[in-house]
Amino acid sequence: MSDSNYNLFWTETLRQLKEDGRLSNQEYDMWFRNTEFVRGNDHSLILSVPSIFYRDQVQQRYIVMLESTLQSLSGSTISIDFEIEKNSPSKNKQSDALIEPPLPSPDKTKKREPHSQLRQEYDFKGFVIGNNNSFAANAAQAIGSNPGGAYNPFLIYGGVGLGKTHLMQAIGNTIHFNMLDKKVVYITAETFINEFIHSIRSETQSRFKNKYRKVDILLIDDIHDLQNKKETQEELFHTFNALYDAKKQLVFTCDRPPSELRNFADRLKNRFERGLNVDLQPPNFETRYAILRKKLETITIPIPDEVLEFIARNVTTNIRDLEASLTKMVAYADLVSKRITVEVAQSQLKNSFSANLTINITIDRIQRVVSEYFNVTPGDLKGKKRTKQVTFPRQIAMYIIREITDYSTTEIGLEFGGRDHTTVMHSCQRIEDRMKSDPTLEPTIVGLIRSIKEVG
Ligand code: ADP
Ligand code: MG
Repeated sequence: MSDSNYNLFWTETLRQLKEDGRLSNQEYDMWFRNTEFVRGNDHSLILSVPSIFYRDQVQQRYIVMLESTLQSLSGSTISIDFEIEKNSPSKNKQSDALIEPPLPSPDKTKKREPHSQLRQEYDFKGFVIGNNNSFAANAAQAIGSNPGGAYNPFLIYGGVGLGKTHLMQAIGNTIHFNMLDKKVVYITAETFINEFIHSIRSETQSRFKNKYRKVDILLIDDIHDLQNKKETQEELFHTFNALYDAKKQLVFTCDRPPSELRNFADRLKNRFERGLNVDLQPPNFETRYAILRKKLETITIPIPDEVLEFIARNVTTNIRDLEASLTKMVAYADLVSKRITVEVAQSQLKNSFSANLTINITIDRIQRVVSEYFNVTPGDLKGKKRTKQVTFPRQIAMYIIREITDYSTTEIGLEFGGRDHTTVMHSCQRIEDRMKSDPTLEPTIVGLIRSIKEVG
C-alpha cells in the first residue's frame, strides 16, 4: 500500500467517526485537529501529535476505535504509531492549554494555607475519570495548569450529584496550591446574589464590584440559581466582561445547558457559551464501582468487594447517592464491628433505595421469571427455536435485561445462546415498536419487572 493510500484511509477514518457521532466535534477539536498524518508503511501508520500528553490520551481513549475502523476500511490490520512534533508550537491556539499539562512545580520555599472557600479533598487525585466525565475532567485539568487560556469561560453542566462542584473546586485547589500569585475566589450563585443585594442595601456596591473584579480565577457554582434575578445577572455580566477582557479564568456550573436557562439575559447566556461547555452524565457500572473503590482508599473499615459491587449495581442515580450508601455501610460495619455481607447491605439499603434496588438481578433470574410467565423454559429462550411462541418471550427478556441491568448487548447475546449483539438490539427495538401499537404490552412488562425485583 502506498503512502497516499494510508493517508486516505486515515482521513476517511476520521470522517466516518465524526459522521456517525462516535467522535463528537468537541473531541475532534480537542484531540485530532492538531494530529497529522506523517507516513504509512508496513501495516503501520504514523501520526504526529504535539506532545506526549496528546499521544497518551489519544492512545488511551481512541486507539481501539481508530484501529478497528482502519481495519474495516482497508481490509487489513493497520497499527497506529505516534511521533511527537519537535518544538513546533501547535498551529491551533485553541488547544494550547493541553500541550503543556505538567503542573508548574510549586515553589517549595512558600506554601499556601488551604483555601478558605474550597474543600481540600476536592482535588483531581480524588476524582475518578470514567465514561461519564472524561472530557470534562481533562478540560478541567488543562485549565488547572493554564488558567485564562483556551477554555475561557469554562462551564460544566449536569444533574445533581454528578461531580460539578468537585471538578470546579479541583481547578481552584490546583491553581491555589501551584500558582502562588493567583487569587482564586469560589462562590455559589446564591451567595453571590445575597452579597449583591446586601451591597445595595448597605451602599457598598463599589466594594462588592472591586471584590469580584480583582480576582484571577472566579468560580461561580450553580448559576441556574440566577434565573429570575435580573439585577444580579446584570452585575455578573459586567464582572464577566471585566475579567474576561483581562484574560482571567471564569468557571461556572449549571444544572442544565445555558441555552435552557429561563428568565435569563440573552447576552449573559451568550457569554457563557463563548468558551467551552461540557456536560457530566451519570456514571456507568464500571465507573460507579471505581468511584466506590476510590472512596474506600481513605477508610480503614473493610468492605468486601461483592458488597461494593452490589452497591454499584443498585445505586445508579448519581455519585452523591453512591457515596451516601457507602457511608451507611461503613457506619454500620463500624457500629456492629462485623464484616458486611451482601445480605446486610441489602437490608440496610432497602429503605434508601427501595425504588431502584435491583437485588441480585441476574440475566438468569430474568430469564426464569419471563419464561415462567410465558410458559416456556429458560432453555427455550437460549435455544435456536424461532417459533413465535418462544421468540416473543425471548425478545421481552432481552428488552427487560437491557432496561434494568447494565449488561451490554454483547453480554446479553452471549447469555442467549451466543447470539450477536445486533440481534439483541433488534429484539429490543421490536418490543419498543410493539409497545407503541399494543397498549397491553407495557403493563405486562412492568408487572414482569416487578416480579423480577421481588426479593426472595
Ligand atoms: P454536583 O455539584 O454535580 O451536584 P458534587 O461535585 O457535589 O456534585 O459531587 C457529589 C459527590 O460525589 C461529591 O462528594 C464528590 O466528591 C463525588 N464525586 C462526583 N464525581 C466523582 C468522581 N468522578 N470521582 C470521585 N468522586 C466523585
Ligand atoms: Mg454542586
